[in-house]
Amino acid sequence: MTIVGIDLGTTNSLIGVMEKGRPRIFRGEDGGTLVPSIVAFDAKGKPLVGSLAKAGKIQNVLRTIYSSKRFVGKGGKDVEPWMHLLPFDFSKSDDQMVRFSINDKTYTPIEIAAFVIRHLKNMAQCQMLEKVEKAVITVPAYFNDAQRQATKFAGELAGLEVVRILNEPTAACLAYGLDKKARGTVAIFDLGGGTFDISVLRISLSVFEVLATNGNTALGGDDFDHAIAEKLGKEITEVTGLNPMSTPEGRSRLISEAEKAKRALSDATETLFEWNYCHTRFERSLSRSELEKWILPIVRQAEDPCRRCMADARLNPEDITDVILVGGSTRVPLVKKLVEEIFQRKPICTLNPDEVVAIGAAVQAGVLMGQAGELLLLDVIPLSLGIETMGGITAKLIHRNS
Ligand code: ADP
Ligand code: MG
Repeated sequence: MTIVGIDLGTTNSLIGVMEKGRPRIFRGEDGGTLVPSIVAFDAKGKPLVGSLAKAGKIQNVLRTIYSSKRFVGKGGKDVEPWMHLLPFDFSKSDDQMVRFSINDKTYTPIEIAAFVIRHLKNMAQCQMLEKVEKAVITVPAYFNDAQRQATKFAGELAGLEVVRILNEPTAACLAYGLDKKARGTVAIFDLGGGTFDISVLRISLSVFEVLATNGNTALGGDDFDHAIAEKLGKEITEVTGLNPMSTPEGRSRLISEAEKAKRALSDATETLFEWNYCHTRFERSLSRSELEKWILPIVRQAEDPCRRCMADARLNPEDITDVILVGGSTRVPLVKKLVEEIFQRKPICTLNPDEVVAIGAAVQAGVLMGQAGELLLLDVIPLSLGIETMGGITAKLIHRNS
């Protein structure tokens, strides 16, 4: 029985499998391995997933759900700070679980994730000509138990038995084949679209031990896009008299152009930013140093979790053998610079940072199918567990990173 590996990302998701001892990542209808974690509904409520949903995102802005992983396992109160940044509607009725309103229906983040997983499953089935019933799904190391359960449930809703929930940074280690290396202490720095994870693992003789994890479930490349959009949005208002933030479509177009400029500035030091909306045109050149000035306060937020993670593992930067970069946002030169500064060494980035986690998930799936030899993962709990005693105080019973 085949087991697939799924990287269920905030921005992009991937699916892979072990074939003849090698990981294979499946390609979607656009030819790429990244499936945007976006679900768009038409007027009748029919869902469209992935690159097709992304292509229609600007026109169909109120019925397109993206970044919904940020809301998995959360209640209404937790998400208030982000609500105004996203164009789609939240249902006010339920504070236990976030719900998105589309047409006259509501959807939970779990249901949205299930649409994405079902799409990935179909993609793999079509290409393997075989039914897929079991999966390994990855989650950020910092996800709490509710978020892990929610992810598992999303897999089940999509018709898969979730045989293992795997931490994304652990998957990254497997992808780099670090299990084959006799021993070492590895830091995994993963900055994606919506979440940041830092983990320190000790590897010896195919045993993976997570020494400590830290991170921020609300930090990622989306925040860079919003920072750029905010700066340029103000300029657009000053120059053209039109406030792009005043309509969902104007805002969506602004954020999408901001992201495009950001990507271009990972390679070039200068790019042209363009914004066209309602017969109004704005353009100006944007330099990498301007971008870096705007995003520096956000990039810096990754520093504290890194230091705390090393402190929890009782390690200094010189004790770390390797640092691995994971996630699309680690392509930003300023991010690489910060990593180098914190860990005092050049990070490894020889694998495609977008695919590393999915490759690791496929490797783990291979192990569970008995294809990849013996491998033992020892993990820690990312958050302290305790019981609530009188007066709403929590008495910690098991401390984080145990
Ligand atoms: P996630 O794990 O959250 O699904 P990914 O690892 O796919 O995210 O990373 C997505 C993020 O990476 C997005 O914010 C995207 O804008 C950013 N990104 C992708 N390519 C680049 C690039 N070349 N330069 C800067 N940012 C990039
Ligand atoms: Mg990711």
